[in-house]
Amino acid sequence: MPEAELPEVAAVARDLIRFDTTNHGGGRAAGEREAAEYVGAYLERLGLAPEYYEPIPRRTNVMARVPGRDRDKPALVLHGHLDVVPPIAEDWSVDPFAGVVRDGMLWGRGAVDMKDMDAMILTSVAEILRAGEAPERDLILAFFADEENGGVEGSALVVQDRPEWFAGATEAISEVGGYSLTIGDRRTYLLQVGEKALVWIRLVARGRAAHGSSLHADNAVTALAEAVAALGRTAWPVTLTDTTREMTERLADLLGQSSADPDAVAAATGAPSGFLRSTLRTTTNPTGLVAGYKHNVIPDRAEALIDVRVLPGTEQAALADIRRIVGAGVEVEIVHQDIGLEVPFSGDLVDAMVAALGVHDPDAPVIPYLMGGGTDNKALATLGIAGYGFAPLRLPADLDFTGMFHGVDERVPIDALVFGQRVLSDLLRTY
Ligand SMILES: [Zn+2]
Repeated sequence: MPEAELPEVAAVARDLIRFDTTNHGGGRAAGEREAAEYVGAYLERLGLAPEYYEPIPRRTNVMARVPGRDRDKPALVLHGHLDVVPPIAEDWSVDPFAGVVRDGMLWGRGAVDMKDMDAMILTSVAEILRAGEAPERDLILAFFADEENGGVEGSALVVQDRPEWFAGATEAISEVGGYSLTIGDRRTYLLQVGEKALVWIRLVARGRAAHGSSLHADNAVTALAEAVAALGRTAWPVTLTDTTREMTERLADLLGQSSADPDAVAAATGAPSGFLRSTLRTTTNPTGLVAGYKHNVIPDRAEALIDVRVLPGTEQAALADIRRIVGAGVEVEIVHQDIGLEVPFSGDLVDAMVAALGVHDPDAPVIPYLMGGGTDNKALATLGIAGYGFAPLRLPADLDFTGMFHGVDERVPIDALVFGQRVLSDLLRTY
């Protein structure tokens, strides 16, 4: 497809991909300033008045409010992040920041997470305003920095320092939900209504330093290794929440299976099974080890990093289990913790999202799910805003979409972007 013929939603997503907004985490980032200015200029051309907030140099957030027809209704937040995780360019088939169009798809870092949705938000609002219309209710369009680092230099600072941006808002829509998966032979949409909580812990084992040739029972590395292996191999039991219970029942229906074994149901979904099974239980993945400094010295200390993800509200119970599993000799330190979220799969907004999908893909089931990771919805929740993952994309059955988040050769079909923009603009006109 020649670039001149690209639908606007794809052209905007391509332009955003071409800004290298790599976020290495821990405050090391290329910065979102140019991408935020591009978004701001687009909003200005729609007659809106964007506001910027750059609490840390180059970590730029931008927002605009779109007046709705019914000012009595609570405002709806549409938000996206402008940063991306680092690509290993040698592993890619294309330059990750070139915004290449090939085989009917837009390729590049952020094509899936989440410059696609950023472009869908912008162009769906543009479609409404250019037609001389208004959305049903006030919209707050917010584009954040630093989401890929937990939002500590982005949404966390925005909600703390600019809460007035979100005045009157009760609900929010953003990423990682609303896209289709093929379950059995049915195209099915997953709507995200919850996010697991993150608890990053450090295990610390202490022993006695000694010569590497000694007979020595008090070895910190041995003690740590035992604790790491025990935790890494723990088969956490399946625990259902309202969301995952309904997800399991609906998936079982589609697959023609019993819902009695939720893990078996999730496992039968094929490509997304790893992603779905992680949402049924706690996960405790060891991700880092630090110990020792010389081959013939037994160190007195050894440390491991564990990425713990738990279902909303189960943090304390999981930590108690973890302490029991690693044993009294190994300390458990909490390095960073955030909150879990879960909102009902019901209500006017859920009905409106399901209906908007139904207009453009009739009879396709829409199923709630709870995601294993986190989004800027967690920051907005501190302002009492209920967040959903709804970035609608109708995808081909053979595209492993969930595998492309933070993956190699991120790409999104152009026609899926056009679909998503239409679904969103319908939703915004009517909800
Ligand atoms: Zn994302």
